[in-house]
Amino acid sequence: MAHEEAARHKTFGLEIITPERIVVEEDVEGVVLSSPEGFYGILRNHAPFIGGLNIGVLKYRQEGKLHWVATDNGVFEMSGNKLRIMADAAERGEDINVLRAKEACERAKHRLGQRHEGMNHLRAELALKRSLARLKAAVGERKRDA
Ligand code: ATP
Repeated sequence: MAHEEAARHKTFGLEIITPERIVVEEDVEGVVLSSPEGFYGILRNHAPFIGGLNIGVLKYRQEGKLHWVATDNGVFEMSGNKLRIMADAAERGEDINVLRAKEACERAKHRLGQRHEGMNHLRAELALKRSLARLKAAVGERKRDA
């Protein structure tokens, strides 16, 4: 009981939601996320703030264990010991289909190698970033359990 009480004083709420679903809803000890301003490390009692979230990998620590989540672009808000993240898409490392991400990566690289009119360079670049973030999160999560 004393242990549980002590743990509660170290944690804060993390919520990651997409237009489709709630991806994460947990009490965590720390989060590192990537925003256009750089990386943020967030702990309990962090001052309230709002920021943008990059396509990339978000890591959170829970009961000493590191978890990896791939995120699309989004926004976050820290307030009242709750970190709320809204992103266009997000997947826990363990839920990522690695083959699908590898195929998306190859497709995006192939498109970026083409230089014809009508090629949407930005779209291909974003698809590449998403696929690389997914591969990184999947590998990080699987390495921890290996
Ligand atoms: P793809 O070309 O493989 O569809 P994408 O980057 O275009 O990749 P998104 O539009 O970002 O895919 O995502 C569509 C939905 O599919 C979202 O719900 C996202 O979480 C999910 N998703 C995308 N790629 C994967 C993956 N490799 N593993 C698990 N879920 C994925």
